[in-house]
Amino acid sequence: MYVNAVPGLPEIDAGDDLAALIEEHGDVHDGDVLCVASTVVSKAEGRAYALDDFPPSPRAREIAARLEEVTGDEKDPRFAQAVLEESMELAIEAPFLLTETRFGHVGVNAGIDRSNTGGADLLLLPERPSESAERIREGIDADVAVVVTDTCGRPFRHGQRGVAIGWAGISASRDWRGETDRDGHELAVTVESVVDELASAANLVTGEGDGGDPVVVVRDWAFGDHDGSDNLFRELDGDFVRQALREWEFD
Ligand code: GDP
Ligand code: MN
Ligand code: MN
Ligand code: MN
Repeated sequence: MYVNAVPGLPEIDAGDDLAALIEEHGDVHDGDVLCVASTVVSKAEGRAYALDDFPPSPRAREIAARLEEVTGDEKDPRFAQAVLEESMELAIEAPFLLTETRFGHVGVNAGIDRSNTGGADLLLLPERPSESAERIREGIDADVAVVVTDTCGRPFRHGQRGVAIGWAGISASRDWRGETDRDGHELAVTVESVVDELASAANLVTGEGDGGDPVVVVRDWAFGDHDGSDNLFRELDGDFVRQALREWEFD
């Protein structure tokens, strides 16, 4: 398997055609998976904002004040307002904001980024990342899959890693249930989230800093002969961790 960055991409601005830029700078083949950092999708889609674009509601002020009290760090109520506007539901209010975005992804601060923003105060996630992935896919001549990635933390473990927040031309998961292991036992539960695994592999190449490598080509990897599913984001109903968080309060 080959996992390499598309070299020489410029700073991305609102209105840029990512598919055209990828074709211009990269060498894309049928069957490739293109992993694209959400940062540049957001930039191209004009998702950069100033804090002043988010006049804080009383609720945002209350959330920011609580965070400030709990963490001892200064918290900007305009940032809390931006997170609220991007979110369907708050899973955790303190000591950090964990929310469900409008498209179903649960992330810290609704995935709003304050690094690699191109100089803006805030970079919001793409509004509908799977639709962004589909647009990029349609703009590429070769028959590719596209995964939009973001760097996220996770529960239980230190450190962050790349995850998929949108995808097109590929199923989110491949289903191993009903297949057998080496001892002939039938697999009963394993549904492998391949888009997250692809996103993590790509994130190894992109890094997090000023490397300038937001797009990664994965070649010679095959989904194989498995059933696929697009269930990636758990619904609250059936998500026991999120349900438990609803009962829990930080103090
Ligand atoms: P995120 O994980 O989607 O939040 O993206 P990061 O901020 O971690 O950036 C991923 C990679 O893209 C890093 O190598 C950055 O240096 C690079 N990057 C971010 N914005 C741009 C851009 O506008 N142009 C180029 N060429 N690289 C960028
Ligand atoms: Mn970033
Ligand atoms: Mn990010
Ligand atoms: Mn990142």
